[in-house]
Amino acid sequence: MPTLKTTNLVAGFIYYDAKADDARLALSVAKTASNYYGAVVGTYCELIKMHHSESAKIDSAIVRASDGDKTNYREITIKAKCFVNATGVWSDDLRSLDEPTHPHSITPARGIHITLSREKLPCDIAAVIPVKKDKRSIFVIPWGDQTYVGTTDTAYSGPVDNPEVAKEEVEYLLKAVNDATTANLTESDIKSSWAGLRPLLTPTENSEVHHKEPILHKIGAKIADLVGIAVDGQSNGEKTADLSRNHQVIISRSGLITVTGGKLTTYRKMAEDTVDKVVELVGKGSLKSLTKKLPLIGCPSEISKFRFGVSNTSKYLPDNVDAIAWKHLFNRYGTRSDAIFQLFKDDPNNKSPLVKGLPYFRAEAIYAVTNEWALSLEDILSRRTRALLHDAQATKDSAREVAELVAPLLGWDNDRINSEVSKVEALVSSALPDIPDSQRDQDDISKLASVANLGSIRKTNSSTTLKNTKTGARNTIKDESNDN
Ligand SMILES: Cc1cc2nc3c(=O)[nH]c(=O)nc-3n(C[C@H](O)[C@H](O)[C@H](O)COP(=O)(O)OP(=O)(O)OC[C@H]3O[C@@H](n4cnc5c(N)ncnc54)[C@H](O)[C@@H]3O)c2cc1C
Repeated sequence: MPTLKTTNLVAGFIYYDAKADDARLALSVAKTASNYYGAVVGTYCELIKMHHSESAKIDSAIVRASDGDKTNYREITIKAKCFVNATGVWSDDLRSLDEPTHPHSITPARGIHITLSREKLPCDIAAVIPVKKDKRSIFVIPWGDQTYVGTTDTAYSGPVDNPEVAKEEVEYLLKAVNDATTANLTESDIKSSWAGLRPLLTPTENSEVHHKEPILHKIGAKIADLVGIAVDGQSNGEKTADLSRNHQVIISRSGLITVTGGKLTTYRKMAEDTVDKVVELVGKGSLKSLTKKLPLIGCPSEISKFRFGVSNTSKYLPDNVDAIAWKHLFNRYGTRSDAIFQLFKDDPNNKSPLVKGLPYFRAEAIYAVTNEWALSLEDILSRRTRALLHDAQATKDSAREVAELVAPLLGWDNDRINSEVSKVEALVSSALPDIPDSQRDQDDISKLASVANLGSIRKTNSSTTLKNTKTGARNTIKDESNDN
């Protein structure tokens, strides 16, 4: 990190970690289940009611299913031998449809991230920055032409559907980076921001908690301790960072299995514990969860062959794809990149950029709606690609074109296109800070002004909070193994 302040710098250390795009990971899990194990996947299906049989066991549930426009839905009854509640910060709400009282077993903790241009905050590898006068540390992570910074860890009691990117948390992150570097960042450098909620378990004396803290975490904590920074669980006081990241599997009297708490890093262990309970409940004897050795869809059979840098890829490249595009696609789709290459062949326009300045191709939007259950423009721009999280303004500028690209595939008329574009525009304005024109980078102002369909640049208003309508933890990028 070239901008790191070196005064008083005594030592540095390197440790190895992993990072994952949470939306793509969740999608790959669902795709694996559907393509190889017979799962039926329904997006935009909200469980609203549970029905109990005469023996007080749940035998069916009513689901509100929509085509991506939540105002347009129909209700479907689903019958099953067993229902699993794996709804993160919403899990207590679901349990309250089954149990007489709301269990209040989850303490949501908000975390926000901000995206900055990589030119402003260059870094070759991810860096951990201890926060001055706080026992937490934050991460600065390279992400294509951007760098993202996060996360915060704040107790949250607002509506779980709409965690906001609070101004104080943005200031906390900017200050932490500015204290440690010479980057001199201001709000006008922010290209996007997002908030998520961690479903942390409220501690109780009787909790039956699964999963021990991984040994690597303990080692990481030790190293952090030695060099004087704190990781989660080590800081003092009533912070949500002190709450456990363990998970819990609970079976209600009526047979609802709820898995709560946990982390992205431990999702397989959470799945294993849950599936084993399902098997027990439906009486399938000695069957056990397969997850431990299960490769996800898109994983190459000879994985070692694919562990190389861009320079060594030439012999695997299709005719019309360069090494950088190949790497971008392979990281996102694995062996399923072939389907995108085919779309390039079908129509050369599919190889054009989806959003100016970002690495995504138009083919990826087509693939998202034909193969990845995307039903809304937000799905495509925020959860299948992460364009909105990379660069909110550029995404807004391309939103209509993307909507028109997928409209014939999703049967959208003009009204639906307009409403999808408006929803994305609302998300964009909540992801960007409200700042006066005078504080904006002059280059950015001229760039923005030249965008014909933008209208006037937003003026500041009295709002002190950046609203974010994304729902809960599902829109975050996770750095696995960090107890964030
Ligand atoms: C800022 C932040 C940073 C994090 N960093 C890390 C990290 O570094 N490492 C790590 O391991 N973990 C990290 N986590 C934690 C991790 O992201 C969460 O533990 C994980 O996303 C929770 O997954 P989940 O499937 O339980 O819940 P979610 O991802 O929230 O999924 C719940 C799903 O249930 C759906 N749902 C809700 N109600 C209903 C209903 N009535 N009917 C049908 N569906 C419903 C929701 O739409 C949602 O899709 C982080 C979390 C945050 C917020």
